[in-house]
Amino acid sequence: MEPVLDNIRQVIRENDNIVLVGGSEMMRETGLNGFRAEHMAYEIEEEYGYSPDEILSSLFFTRQAEKFFDYYKNIILNKKNVQPTKALKAVAELEKAGKLTAIVTRTVYQLFQRAGCQSTIELYGSVEENTCPVCGKMFDSKYIKNADGIPKCDKCGIPLRPGFSLLGEMLDNGRLTKAVNAIENANVLIVAGTSLNSLTWASTLRYYEGDKLILINTQKKSGDEKANYCAYGNISEIFEYVMDYSEE
Ligand SMILES: [Zn+2]
Repeated sequence: MEPVLDNIRQVIRENDNIVLVGGSEMMRETGLNGFRAEHMAYEIEEEYGYSPDEILSSLFFTRQAEKFFDYYKNIILNKKNVQPTKALKAVAELEKAGKLTAIVTRTVYQLFQRAGCQSTIELYGSVEENTCPVCGKMFDSKYIKNADGIPKCDKCGIPLRPGFSLLGEMLDNGRLTKAVNAIENANVLIVAGTSLNSLTWASTLRYYEGDKLILINTQKKSGDEKANYCAYGNISEIFEYVMDYSEE
């Protein structure tokens, strides 16, 4: 193993109040596409005639609900029976050991919760929290997937609102504040599966003022030099190795 991995393991072993920012590459290890499905933008544009970002806008949802839900069912909910990866399990163990304070993510599948994590902040909400705009009843992803055409509330017959924020909409302020507080107060910040320069993260990550910023990603990206430690490769393998924090 590379020396940097041993250094990262040492930092995790010696510290608590660790905060994890879980990016899309962590999700992709499960085989899910994500709601923006960046890796298949071209195919989506060919098939739908619109880019993922156009389909995910609130205007599109209002005007072309049928197409929106087709995308939701087939692109976002592309896989059933998703199993927690080794990386997700390692994060849950770290939390159980009392070393991890919070997980901040923009992925929308409750993946960390399913692995057993308690303190996840899902900035965009999730596919399990679709609601009826009239009565507020909540419907999970299975209900969306199995619906004929546009999924509707079984009581009111009204089309459901997706459980995640549409692009261009304001994020939930409470969640955002919680995330910023966690990052600001973190002793160690682990950023996994996303680049530090990513537009969606840069504004949140700048709140971290410590000197233990750990980046774990599949490959090198510009802006990585802002991290104090960088490790590249298979995310689950790296997590398994560095999160073995038990005394030897
Ligand atoms: Zn209803």
